[in-house]
Amino acid sequence: MRVLEIFNSLQGEGVWSGVPMTFVRLAGCNAPQVGLGCVRWCDTPGSWDPSAGRAMSPAEIARRVSLPRVCVTGGEPLLQGEELRVLVSTLRAGGARVHLETNGTLPLPAGLALDWVTVSPKPPAYTVSAGIGRVDEIKVVVQKDLQADVVQALAATHPEALVSLQPEAGEAPGSTLQAIELVMAHPHWRLSLQLHKLLGLR
Ligand code: SF4
Repeated sequence: MRVLEIFNSLQGEGVWSGVPMTFVRLAGCNAPQVGLGCVRWCDTPGSWDPSAGRAMSPAEIARRVSLPRVCVTGGEPLLQGEELRVLVSTLRAGGARVHLETNGTLPLPAGLALDWVTVSPKPPAYTVSAGIGRVDEIKVVVQKDLQADVVQALAATHPEALVSLQPEAGEAPGSTLQAIELVMAHPHWRLSLQLHKLLGLR
């Protein structure tokens, strides 16, 4: 599979903020093809090219993991479906807890035994694939004009999921204030502030 980078850091986003994880960033993203608005502010555009990084086997990747929790991210990691399934089972067989972060445009392959699934739907449509399956957390990127009903509609599709609201990257004017106002008005939601960037970490 194509791997852009593997590194250790604190999880900076969402429910698991502050927890040390090994991050495995896979190459390839479908956001430009499916018209996601995050292409304007993506902080990992180097991950879009499916031929970026280098080829690694699941066993090679597993040998680079040194923390109890692994976050498999991208790009869009579900583009590497069958190989991803093998990677997840290899990591779990080695004792790791495996988290996945996806943009929500693709279904989870059958047999993907994950410990945590964060779906981060993107503007403008904030759509989540109907066949995505398990969702533990919905992490919504907040633009200054995002309305509560959009988040409520997303949350209603997966009532078991926790909801995190994260201001648009780059501190777009008004997005942080809007995220705070939404959370204060809906206290079962929570604010996600990209802790790693605030701390100057990767
Ligand atoms: S889905 Fe993620 S990696 Fe792809 S363009 Fe959007 S923010 Fe960047």
